[in-house]
Amino acid sequence: MGATAVKRNQQKANQEEATNLLTSTQIVIHEALSKLGFSDEMYELLKEPLRMLTVRMPVRMDDGSIKVFTGYRAQHNDAVGPTKGGVRFHPEVDEEEVKALSMWMSLKCGIVNLPYGGGKGGIICDPRTMSMGELERLSRAYVRAISQIVGPTKDIPAPDVYTNSQIMAWMMDEYSHLREYDSPGFITGKPLVLGGSQGREKATAQGVTICIREAAKQKGLELKGARVIVQGFGNAGSFLAKFMHEAGAKVVGISDAYGALYDRKGLDIDYLLDRRDSFGTVTTLFENTITNEELLEMECDILVPAAISNQITAHNAHAIKAPIVVEAANGPTTLEATKILTDRGILLVPDVLASAGGVTVSYFEWVQNNQGYYWTEEEVNEKLEKVLVQAFNNVHQLSQARSIDMRLAAYMIGARRMAEASKFRGWV
Ligand code: NAD
Repeated sequence: MGATAVKRNQQKANQEEATNLLTSTQIVIHEALSKLGFSDEMYELLKEPLRMLTVRMPVRMDDGSIKVFTGYRAQHNDAVGPTKGGVRFHPEVDEEEVKALSMWMSLKCGIVNLPYGGGKGGIICDPRTMSMGELERLSRAYVRAISQIVGPTKDIPAPDVYTNSQIMAWMMDEYSHLREYDSPGFITGKPLVLGGSQGREKATAQGVTICIREAAKQKGLELKGARVIVQGFGNAGSFLAKFMHEAGAKVVGISDAYGALYDRKGLDIDYLLDRRDSFGTVTTLFENTITNEELLEMECDILVPAAISNQITAHNAHAIKAPIVVEAANGPTTLEATKILTDRGILLVPDVLASAGGVTVSYFEWVQNNQGYYWTEEEVNEKLEKVLVQAFNNVHQLSQARSIDMRLAAYMIGARRMAEASKFRGWV
């Protein structure tokens, strides 16, 4: 088979996988809405984003050539308030994935009780191969392309895979130029000097840590000495490994896009944190690596997928050894795998709950921008703790009371708010 055919097959496989993300999200939303007693009309409204914009952006590359990039912005449902969600820069971004990600954002905002609906954006690109100048021109081009549908009271972007506070700063600057006034509330995850919030960078990992602690309590597992595996060593994964290490747990495995490290005696987390690059890559410094697939099946007490989607599937769910799986990444476990893990008695804390710390502190950042008054890191952490503990307990109690898995319970809580708001507005 020629290289083009291989690439085409790979693209097709990626598309099918992403379509599954959307269809599996729709299946659980449908089940959640019917358990809550909402009509099929409500499902028709919520099964896809209200708006989906595709943009093509010509960008001057450093060698003088022009490259045209494709990007997306999806706004799932704005009945509760403006939509909110990250922008992903990744070669495998596609329309169906962005749609699913925007729906998960709606659910997350419902679960942690924020006055937002869900949005998400993405650009098909590989920032690891681009210069800072090229990344800046692409970030600014994206804001110009989507400017009509975004804004501090419409749709508020944030960082996601392979985007960071520098990219948020360029985007905020471009938006402020377009509108001709300073608009810090247009985007969250900004550097502190541009109106970022204390604690935002660590927020996703803080939220996951709170969920791990609460899940461990439910399972009667002592966190001190517990063996933890974290897949992904980027923003979410690296801070999580640090927090687990500080809590006295033994981080026995970590990974990045190029491979994984496992040591049953525990890894030197401080060294790894020191040596990781800005894309969350560290395993390339080691010879003795294993694959991401192998890592997921290694012995541990707590497994945290914190990289990309579709990692725990029907193929490997039977081989997962951890009694607790906490999803820091969006969509790492397929529906079939969720059933297999649940049937095996594994406590699975779903993404829409476990990774909601990021959007929660993004909300705090937006509130601080709107009022022009900034909080200390202690204040932010205290507020985050309250929100996440409450959210975990709400979902866990509902799952126990209705004998359903935590994913369905989380979807029920998340979907209820947008469905009720849509009903009050007279949309359904
Ligand atoms: P990041 O770009 O900082 O890090 C991504 C990590 O995943 C890197 O270590 C990278 O090497 C690894 N990776 C990339 N492709 C991979 C592959 N094919 N196999 C294995 N590893 C791979 O991203 P992040 O912000 O840490 O996000 C990670 C996950 O957490 C994503 O699913 C994201 O949607 C989710 N999430 C992030 C936030 C946030 O605030 N950053 C909030 C909620 C959810």
